[in-house]
Amino acid sequence: MKKILVTGGAGFIGSHLCERLLNEGNEVICLDNYFTGQKANIVHLLNNPYFEIVRHDVTMPFFIEADQIYNLACPASPVHYQFDAIQTIKTSVMGAINALGLAKRTKARVLQASTSEVYGDPNVHPQIESYWGHVNPIGIRSCYDEGKRCAETLFMDYHRMNSVDIKIVRIFNTYGPRMHPNDGRVVSNFIVQALQGKDITIYGDGKQTRSFQYIDDLIKGMIKMMEAPDEFIGPVNIGNPHEFTILELAQKVIEMISSKSKLIFKPLPSDDPMQRCPDISLAKKELNWEPSIQLEKGLLKTIEYFKLLLK
Ligand code: NAD
Ligand code: UDP
Repeated sequence: MKKILVTGGAGFIGSHLCERLLNEGNEVICLDNYFTGQKANIVHLLNNPYFEIVRHDVTMPFFIEADQIYNLACPASPVHYQFDAIQTIKTSVMGAINALGLAKRTKARVLQASTSEVYGDPNVHPQIESYWGHVNPIGIRSCYDEGKRCAETLFMDYHRMNSVDIKIVRIFNTYGPRMHPNDGRVVSNFIVQALQGKDITIYGDGKQTRSFQYIDDLIKGMIKMMEAPDEFIGPVNIGNPHEFTILELAQKVIEMISSKSKLIFKPLPSDDPMQRCPDISLAKKELNWEPSIQLEKGLLKTIEYFKLLLK
């Protein structure tokens, strides 16, 4: 039985990760300050004696003995990470330093939940790990993008200087049950709007693309990376390479819900990337991982979740 610390464990991805790690017979400690996460996401795990929760802000040091650390703490939707941009960048940078310091002292392996946002508004397509990105350092998304880029730098430097046992995954747009209904991300927004018969808000002309990965595929990829041999530290892209325009996504959601919602067009937020699609050759080769749940099937499960939630 391993003792595993998950920072940001009460969030969308973190709660699925805690659940899977417990099901696999591990002891799990979920550390969260509930900024965007919720107790409701983990309440079903509380009667498991091998599950523990700690309310804590990762910008302050923490001392927890663990064999593995998954570092997920950070708001992830543009609405939430822009709400307090300074706290967002502190969370990424100080959170990484504190997780790495802990890993250094306890000799734990530590995995960073990085993001496709490190590629910014990419001019290499699909995005491959060796691409350095095209990121605005002073825009409204920078607190998140640059915070995550700096966290990757810290991970690499703790590895090079202090031999900390690190792994870095770059997560592409992920969706599924337990996304917060007011999270502001496109999949949850469209499903909630379509279920409530409200207008579907397309930012810009809707021709920008994203590649949507279902949560279960991501969790498998993250655990495979954590368990990968020492030499493979990443960064590695974990995402679904099927690319859709935002308009296509809206049409699919409307069709699947048989909704009467209409499309309305709103201004495109600044620095919103025009295209995003992972090259997953590295994950296939090194982790023998690729996603298996395609959009329609994943949307169906997510729509069912929101139907129950909004009842
Ligand atoms: P989320 O907002 O649901 O979860 C983030 C969790 O971190 C929340 O529970 C929140 O309360 C917690 N948190 C935030 N600041 C904290 C702090 N200072 N101290 C302690 N806890 C704090 O988002 P998510 O989608 O589950 O994302 C989890 C991680 O995965 C994030 O690091 C995010 O950057 C990364 N990621 C997510 C996606 C995606 O599509 N969902 C894509 C790329 C990367
Ligand atoms: N988007 C949209 N309507 C919404 C929410 C988002 O058209 O109600 C667009 C957004 O501008 C972006 C894409 O959908 O181009 C994905 O947005 P999200 O916030 O989910 O993720 P990210 O931009 O971080 O990839």
